[in-house]
Parts: sequence; C-alpha cells; structure tokens
Amino acid sequence: MPSKQKTLCFIFLLFLSACMGQEESTRKGADHASSDRKVTEKETPPPKSITIAAVGDLLIHRPVFEDAKTSSGYNFTPIFTPVKKYLKETTLTVANQETMIGGKELGLSSYPTFNSPYEVGDALKNIGVDVVSIANNHTLDQGEQGIKNAISHWKAISMVYTGAYLNEQDQKNIRVVQTEAGIDVAFLSYTYGTNGIPVPDGKAYLVNLIDKAAIEADIKKAEKLSDAIVVNVHFGDEYERYPNQSQKQTAQMMADAGADVILGHHPHVLQPIERLEGKNGNDALVIYSLGNFLSAQENIYRRIGGILQLEMEKAPKQDKREIIIKNPVFIPTVVDYELNANNIAGRDFRVLPMSKADESVMPDVKSIHNDIRKHMSQWLPELTFK
Ligand SMILES: [Zn+2]
Repeated sequence: MPSKQKTLCFIFLLFLSACMGQEESTRKGADHASSDRKVTEKETPPPKSITIAAVGDLLIHRPVFEDAKTSSGYNFTPIFTPVKKYLKETTLTVANQETMIGGKELGLSSYPTFNSPYEVGDALKNIGVDVVSIANNHTLDQGEQGIKNAISHWKAISMVYTGAYLNEQDQKNIRVVQTEAGIDVAFLSYTYGTNGIPVPDGKAYLVNLIDKAAIEADIKKAEKLSDAIVVNVHFGDEYERYPNQSQKQTAQMMADAGADVILGHHPHVLQPIERLEGKNGNDALVIYSLGNFLSAQENIYRRIGGILQLEMEKAPKQDKREIIIKNPVFIPTVVDYELNANNIAGRDFRVLPMSKADESVMPDVKSIHNDIRKHMSQWLPELTFK
C-alpha cells in the first residue's frame, strides 16, 4: 500500500468551510489541489489509485478515559500503538467517533450519556485518522454544547468531521478530501436516531438522520464535487452478528443513489461485507458493521472489531464517472485490558491485531480468529486478511 499522499487541502478546506459557502469552498479547494498536483508531477509520477482504511465504534467508557489519565490531561495514543501502522499506511483513514468529545468542562461521563476528553481527538490525529464520522445515537448526549465543543476541537486539530454540524451552512458543505492521485473522496454520515433525545427545533443540522430524500440529495451533490463517495451509516441491532432487513434496504438505497463504499456501525459486533449493485449498474461495497474499535465492553464479540482497507481506482475511461473498489483487506482487532480491583475491564487498554493476540488476551483466540475470518468473508470470498 502506498504511504499517505494527502495534500494540504484538509486544512485549506476546513478553513474555507468555516468562512465560505459550499460551492466556493470546494471550487477553490479543487484549484488548490491541481496546483499541488503539478508540483508533484515533476518529482514523481502520481499514483493511479488510493487506499482507504476504516474503523468502527470508539466508545470511551469511564475505565478507558481513567486509564488514559496523565498528570496533565489524557493520553489515548498508546492504546492504539499496536494497530497504528494499518491506519497510517493508507492514503485516507476514517473512524466512527461514537462519543462526543465535549471536553472536561462539561464533565466527563460514561454510558448512557457519554462525554469524552478532547484528547481522544488528538490520539486519532496521531494514529493517522483523517476523517471522523460523528452522526451517532450518542451525538446529542451532551446537547448542542457537546457538539459545539467537539467541533471546535476537531477544527483546532484540522480533522475533517462529517455527520454533525455547527449550522445549516456547515451541514450543506459536503466534505471532500483531495488526494495527490487526483481521486477526490466525499465523506457523508447518518444515524438512525439519537437515543430518544429530541433534535432541538429548527436545528436539524446538529445531526444527520437517515432520511432517503436527504441522502439522495447529498449524494447527488457529492457526485458533482468528488470522484468517490464514502457513506458512514450508524444503524442495525446491537450485538447482532448479521444485518437486519432494514440495514440491507438502507445500504441498497445508498448504493442505488450512487454511494461507492458504505461503512456501517452501531451493532458493536462485526457483521459481514458484501458487494452491491446499484440500480444504474454501479458497484458498491458495504460492511454492515465494523464492530467496536475501542470500548470497555467485555463480551468476546464486543471486544472484536477490525480495520477495513480498500483500494480505489479511477476507471480508465475519463468521460465516465466510475470508481473501482479493489483488494478489500480486513484486519480483525481485539481490545485487550487488565481487570481492576472490582474484576472488570479497568486498565492497560490496548487495541491489538487479532493475529498478534495470544491466550492471555482472549481464551481460545486462534479458533475465534478463524471464525471471524469466515464470518467476514462469507459473502465476499475475495476478502483477504492481515
Ligand atoms: Zn451506536
């Protein structure tokens, strides 16, 4: 896989998105990218494809943030060290930040209404995450202020966020990340709901809900602004290892609308991957659930998540808008921890590749790993594993 080949356009786009309308920011972003590309061409020929990595739910339960506490704040980066290389080696990486990083001033909290330290964002930045999906059932846990605080931190660290917004204009601004390969990728994000917490009147921009008309309209806009469309969707039944009918219909609707990659999360366990055909004959790839990437949940399947890596190639015909999704790779991961005095997951949290986990991490780990590989590839025999 090629190493990171992003342009500085992230910062540029974020800056512009803060002060301009959607049309203008994307057009200027594109101009900026093409001048960057010219410079690069003189040095090395640009790659013909890009790679993307995706991870699922980061649920920052109390034992996780207490474990990350330092004398001056919080440091979550060491938790991810064993898997960092899989997130750094791709051109772009996207994560589902399920809990809002509202910061200490709102009071940190765990389930059922989470609030996480800003330093979670810093760790994601450090380990190579470029885009966070923040439309989740926990988006409104700390109300509007939680979202505002979180977004101010995402902006401060130049992280692209999608799915929850500061205002209507921010919501209309489709996130497009440009790459040196000339493949511009749009990132969208939606959730089935917000745990019964009502979206404040007149502030629908605070969180993107799954709504067919809105999704179709966003994808239509994204098609004009990008080469490929990645849709994050928070849906399904918790702890179920297979997608339900509604997930299947939603993913098919997104494929019909023109999504290239559909990244599902919320069930907290892994659900399989498959290819879909959209109504216009377009191809899409869906993972119904990426599982938990980091949490303090202790059930075996809730400790297992994974990193999906994909290659995106532009179809050779320049006149045709088509992206080929190639070489899907899955890296099953497991959350390791030590029990605390109360005999619950309490300290030394680490996210490990399952291939590196031994019996001390999870009893019977080899046969469970084998089962996970079969589970994930059952509808996609071409899937390979690291
Ligand atoms: Zn959820």
